[in-house]
Amino acid sequence: MRLVLLGPPGAGKGTQAHRLAERYDLSLIATGDIFRWNVQNDTELGREARAFMEAGELVPDDVVVRMVVEALENLRDGFILDGFPRTLVQAEALEAALQERDCPLSAALLFQLHDEVAVKRLAGRRTCPTCQRTYNIEFHTPRVDMLCDFDATPLVQRKDDEEHTVRHRFEVYQAAAEELHRFYAERGLVRIVDADGSEDEVVERAVNALDDLAERSKSRGR
Ligand code: AMP
Repeated sequence: MRLVLLGPPGAGKGTQAHRLAERYDLSLIATGDIFRWNVQNDTELGREARAFMEAGELVPDDVVVRMVVEALENLRDGFILDGFPRTLVQAEALEAALQERDCPLSAALLFQLHDEVAVKRLAGRRTCPTCQRTYNIEFHTPRVDMLCDFDATPLVQRKDDEEHTVRHRFEVYQAAAEELHRFYAERGLVRIVDADGSEDEVVERAVNALDDLAERSKSRGR
């Protein structure tokens, strides 16, 4: 299975990506995580991306596409891309790279959520800087106050989760969302997942959508 995850910031794509990757044994590429690692480690890529990220802007397409195409080289057959593509240019570049390898996408999961719910989720989000797992001060607290359940690292608020940056990230998302969704709808790849609910409920909806997809492609192959 080869998947891209679409949807607004705050829809829970990162968490869902981890859960789905585990369940279906898929490689996971999360472009935001790769950038954050590079910023933390002060690499050339990190220095290129930092200012864009802190302002809630997109990193330029050529930089992101190069990074993802390189990552695809080392992947097993099944993968999930989280946070990519975010523009039409990126979607077209991905399609070309996958066509070259003769391994087209299986689906684009679109996590849908109302803006106000998403803003609330993001403003309360706290992230583990070590493993990038996310929590929420209201809905998903860690077992021990402000420490990651998995590696006990103190949780932080990402700079781009501060409220004024969150609002800007929404505008950036909305500017590209419509044409991006149309691109995948035209290819019959969009599967809508209602992202309003608990983490487990949303995973279950995504799993149902994917199992349905697997069932259909099996019956087409018969
Ligand atoms: P995320 O964790 O996916 O919200 O990504 C955090 C930040 O990384 C974004 O606000 C962008 O600055 C940058 N970024 C991640 N993925 C992309 C992408 N596909 N295109 C451009 N910028 C990206």
